[in-house]
Amino acid sequence: MSKMPALFVGHGSPMNAIEDNSFTRCWVKLAEEIPRPKAILAISAHWNGEGIRVNDEPFPKTIYDMYGFPEELYKINYNCPGSPELARSIKERLSKDVIIDNSWGLDHGSWVVLKHMYPKCDIPVVQLSLDLSKDALTHFTLGKQLKALRDEGILILGSGNVVHNLSKVNFSMKGGYPWAADFDKYIKDNIVNKNYDKVINYKGAGDSAKLAFRTMEHFYPLLYILGATEEEDKVQVYNDTCNLGSLSMTSYLFK
Ligand code: ZN
Repeated sequence: MSKMPALFVGHGSPMNAIEDNSFTRCWVKLAEEIPRPKAILAISAHWNGEGIRVNDEPFPKTIYDMYGFPEELYKINYNCPGSPELARSIKERLSKDVIIDNSWGLDHGSWVVLKHMYPKCDIPVVQLSLDLSKDALTHFTLGKQLKALRDEGILILGSGNVVHNLSKVNFSMKGGYPWAADFDKYIKDNIVNKNYDKVINYKGAGDSAKLAFRTMEHFYPLLYILGATEEEDKVQVYNDTCNLGSLSMTSYLFK
């Protein structure tokens, strides 16, 4: 069985689910370039709260956790199978405190990307929630505890955005504000140079870190992915750009 990569994707606007643009074409290509996974562990920014939760339904629900978008988005049904077996394995690796919770399913952080990567919905997906009561280092450590899943044919997919400040979004803006580009570059340089401690201690970026995000949920999936890397992994950077002023689409593949 081929070792699977760990992948962080900047998902951006939910509109990417139905658009054909440079970001979505990159996701299609990524899926073609990596081995076909046996199953996917998705860590989405959009399932978060207190405690760590995982779903184990045979067919997880498609969750429409976005408001005010065109009707077409709410008709998407990403009806892939789940994997009770993978859910069990995640629970064993993390801790007994992980809660099985099927009140959620696959939210748009997952299906916006998976719809392009695996349009046939034929690969089982399990979602894991983010515990916002825990800090950045804890999320990195949780990722470490899951990395062996890559040897079992599991693609670990983190879906968020390195820069995500909705209060500053400008829908008519093509690129990003200078502070968004600065923070994105700080993170990229430290990932490429494997200074993951500087990503964990992202406040070291200075003023740009104060504007990059106000809540942690779009950043924490990246820390899971960094935790799931191996010493020998090479990193490839994709969609290396900011858009709508205050979103970064920059994505990282480790293999
Ligand atoms: Zn999002």
